[in-house]
Amino acid sequence: MATKLLLTFAICRLIVTVGLTLDPTELLLLGVDAQLSVDPTDVKAASLDFGLLTGAQPPLAVMHPASSQDVAQLVKAAYGSNFGFTVSARGHGHSINGQAQTANGVVVQMSGSKGGSGVASGRKPPHPRVWPQERFVDVWGGELWIDVLRSTLQHGLAPKSWTDYLYLSVGGTLSNAGISGQAFNHGPQISNVHELDVVTGKGELLTCSEEQNSEMFHAVLGGLGQFGIITRARISLEPAPQRVRWIRVLYSNFSTFTRDQEYLISLHEQPASQKFDYVEGFVIVDEGLINNWRSSFFSPHNPVKISSLEPNGGVLYCLEIAKNYHESTASTIDQEVESLLKKLNFIPASVFTTDMPYVDFLDRVHKAELKLRSKGLWEVPHPWLNLFVPKSKIADFDKGVFKEGFLLQLGSCVHVIVIWCRWDHRSSAVTPDEDVFYLVALLRSALDNGEETHSLEYLTNQNRQILRFCDEAGITVKQYLPHYTTHQEWVDHFGNKWDRFYRLKMEFDPRHILASGQQIFTPTN
Ligand code: FAD
Repeated sequence: MATKLLLTFAICRLIVTVGLTLDPTELLLLGVDAQLSVDPTDVKAASLDFGLLTGAQPPLAVMHPASSQDVAQLVKAAYGSNFGFTVSARGHGHSINGQAQTANGVVVQMSGSKGGSGVASGRKPPHPRVWPQERFVDVWGGELWIDVLRSTLQHGLAPKSWTDYLYLSVGGTLSNAGISGQAFNHGPQISNVHELDVVTGKGELLTCSEEQNSEMFHAVLGGLGQFGIITRARISLEPAPQRVRWIRVLYSNFSTFTRDQEYLISLHEQPASQKFDYVEGFVIVDEGLINNWRSSFFSPHNPVKISSLEPNGGVLYCLEIAKNYHESTASTIDQEVESLLKKLNFIPASVFTTDMPYVDFLDRVHKAELKLRSKGLWEVPHPWLNLFVPKSKIADFDKGVFKEGFLLQLGSCVHVIVIWCRWDHRSSAVTPDEDVFYLVALLRSALDNGEETHSLEYLTNQNRQILRFCDEAGITVKQYLPHYTTHQEWVDHFGNKWDRFYRLKMEFDPRHILASGQQIFTPTN
């Protein structure tokens, strides 16, 4: 009864806001099971995201679904209504430009429903179901990757491809790509999905895979939430490693650094013992950064003086590699790592090594999060810029962005991930035209500390300048986690994928109800 009242209240608010009348039978279409909330705490939480860039966009109501059917009922009601309201799935709200928000409709809070109003009624989204023989797991679309990991580990299994940070939802990363240092081996997360349940923009619940509704399947993967709300994903698993040998080595020369990265990913078809399991890199612009991490790494040459490493143009590059292993094979790990390291051309004496349980390695960013939170540095604006840079242009990018143009203001949060194109081009995700490309992630936080170069305005301007520089220098980058505000920019972003993207949008979400926070399509009333 309480739910019904809340629902009625939310719909009344919708009617008042939109200024149209609603046929009372439409209310019934939502059904009594739908857990719609206008609780100010829920509404406020759904109006913000990790970026803190857009200002609060309060939705009219928030739904805490307990099942695919709840989601389908809501979307069906939106699709069939005379006045039209939008529906945006929100995973863990770790977008930065309001992509999971909607000011004119209902946010479906996919993550965290286990602690939401669903609990009061005893209804919750399903828990992960592991299929040990088949080596896959079925998970709710709002499940966080950390919880997926915890569930599969109980069976000695784990997903193969990750993001650096695990407090992101399955639906949220699959709507983009899901990339980390394992991507050269296994592809991004969107290449490790067998099957999806999706609620389309018409409120239909479809199961899709390579074999069944395959066009929908590929469209949804990397589809920025445009075609449907993922309520279940079937994710591929492998036997879980127990430990990780994690190594960092330094370079002063960019081309040596990228040559080694490209060499390491070229080993992707070699047997496991002859390649690393994880390859990433980052750019270091001051000694402070090294001092931050080297205390937890062992180096036979500690302490290394950065000044003795002769940074070229003031910049050092850190290659970050990891090898997974099982305790039963611990005796061979030193040898395997040693023989791989021998083939690389890093600065001698710049090897930093640590060893830890697999879970601690995967969950490493959460440790950093807790530290930043304790200093009040987590909930600050994040004007992040993620760019896919083609291999043929990465040296120009280094020269123009890391070295000459923008160096001092970049701070320490620049990740460079080289990606082997084990990428299924039938997905909606957009990449450069070349087989090998880099993900350059400028992960900066804006601080209100009186320093102009730390301000949001300054960093945002610098992002614009970097994009302009790439454009003028003919560096054909593609944005990852893209953000555009005009139709033409989106058409350009998708390039030759646009026609299909548009056609499938018209087929699966013709009223443009879903994920309007991406600002690709304008909802039709
Ligand atoms: P939200 O922000 O809640 O939603 C993102 C978009 O997906 C929205 O448009 C939303 O409508 C849509 N959506 C959400 N759930 C669903 C669903 N069930 N069905 C359909 N559409 C849905 N990305 C990487 O690839 N690699 C990384 O290593 C990485 N590290 C990160 C670290 C941090 C600290 C942060 C903040 C982000 C990182 N990201 C990384 C980016 C992240 O993958 C994306 O921002 C992702 O979309 C966030 O997931 P979320 O659950 O918070 O999604």
